[in-house]
Amino acid sequence: MATTLTDRLSHLVKTMRGQARITETNVQDMLREVRMALLEADVALPVVRDFIARVKEKALGQEVVGSLNPGQVLVSVVHKELAATMGEGISDINLAAQPPAIILMAGLQGAGKTTTTAKLAKHLIEKRKKKVLTVSADVYRPAAIEQLKTVTKQAGAEWFPSEPNQKPKDIALAALDWARRHYFDVLLVDTAGRLAIDEALMAEIRELHATLNPVETLFVVDAMQGQDAINTAKAFKEALPLTGIVLTKLDGDSRGGAALSVRQITGAPIKFAGVSEKIDGLEVFDAERHAGRVLGMGDIVALVEEVTKGVDMAAATKMAEKLKSGGGFDLNDFLSQISQMKKMGGLSSLMDKLPAQMAAKAGQGDMDKAEKDMRRMEGILSAMTAKERRQPALLLEGKSKASRKRRIAAGAGVQIQDVNRMLTQFEQMRDMMKKMQGGGLMKMMKKMGG
Ligand code: GDP
Repeated sequence: MATTLTDRLSHLVKTMRGQARITETNVQDMLREVRMALLEADVALPVVRDFIARVKEKALGQEVVGSLNPGQVLVSVVHKELAATMGEGISDINLAAQPPAIILMAGLQGAGKTTTTAKLAKHLIEKRKKKVLTVSADVYRPAAIEQLKTVTKQAGAEWFPSEPNQKPKDIALAALDWARRHYFDVLLVDTAGRLAIDEALMAEIRELHATLNPVETLFVVDAMQGQDAINTAKAFKEALPLTGIVLTKLDGDSRGGAALSVRQITGAPIKFAGVSEKIDGLEVFDAERHAGRVLGMGDIVALVEEVTKGVDMAAATKMAEKLKSGGGFDLNDFLSQISQMKKMGGLSSLMDKLPAQMAAKAGQGDMDKAEKDMRRMEGILSAMTAKERRQPALLLEGKSKASRKRRIAAGAGVQIQDVNRMLTQFEQMRDMMKKMQGGGLMKMMKKMGG
């Protein structure tokens, strides 16, 4: 994965230690890094420019409080602004129309329109208990009509037949008539896409729109399209009054910067995200979480997966084995547990991603403090010698423990009590690990994930 914004900013932060405010002079370098991070995430250049200007305005004069540094304050301003730009709250499909509510699907060929039509049908059937009819007005590719038929069946919806020799407008009207007479709640109209924008295509979809007067006109766009998304979005916005966006293929390795570009250009809310080729691979779009992805901060879901089956799983298994074979949990293990927590973006960002009621229970104040403690502990651990970390007994019961602790406290710039507190926490974690037979973090994450 590419460098995260937090990584990018951290080296700058060193030179700014002790600065209490974000100012015109110290913000420039940081904004350059933000700009790079957004470009890396494939946000279109003009969108990046606007965005940076807004962030700068919001960040200037922000006080840097507590244990935070200017870089962290800026990351939080950027994260908030990203989430606000990409959407406010969650917006589901609007069905407030005389039934059948008509939903028109627009977008380039290959964007995922047909797949999304079926996914949406399934969503509306299962989550909104609607009776759904689909129809394809793509008369250029006979295979497209067949494809819609297949996926509609998988979705458990009904499909209205159409033929390549019909006019799209006639197909739409026939389907609408059928839907009315058979009391469908929703009619989903899949349309033709081209590989690139062309005027004939736009004229056709404009005509379909005028004929059907849909309650939703959804622009389906491939998240992997990156920089190009901006031109496509512009063309569709000019042709149609878009009411929403579906961002597909977010399961790919794109950082999803297209979300920002498309949202900014069209002004329409991003309603759904496509996250797999399968019929159930549709999620209601969550701007907060997506902002984290654009910034390269990951998200809790990806994190839980990574920890439970990825690299960290290997580390956790190794630790479990070590503990079982009587190897003992030492301060190096403690340090690695702390860094794993930090890798997750710190406790408070972890909390941000948890359901609101859970986060409220934990309390933001507690989280800030826990995070500060975590950083302090890391400092103390790095001030120890390798031998001390391997043999905590030197600090817990060794003859020279007092002088060792004094040296460590001075090295880390903390009080002896802080060193003692950290050692107590270490002992508690060691006991907990013993009880759990190791793999503590792994188990914790599993609990959170399920
Ligand atoms: P259309 O030409 O716009 O109708 O696009 P299709 O629905 O035919 O989709 C084009 C390709 O993208 C197909 O191979 C789909 O399976 C795939 N696809 C669509 N949505 C997603 C998604 O969210 N994730 C992934 N991985 N593939 C998708």
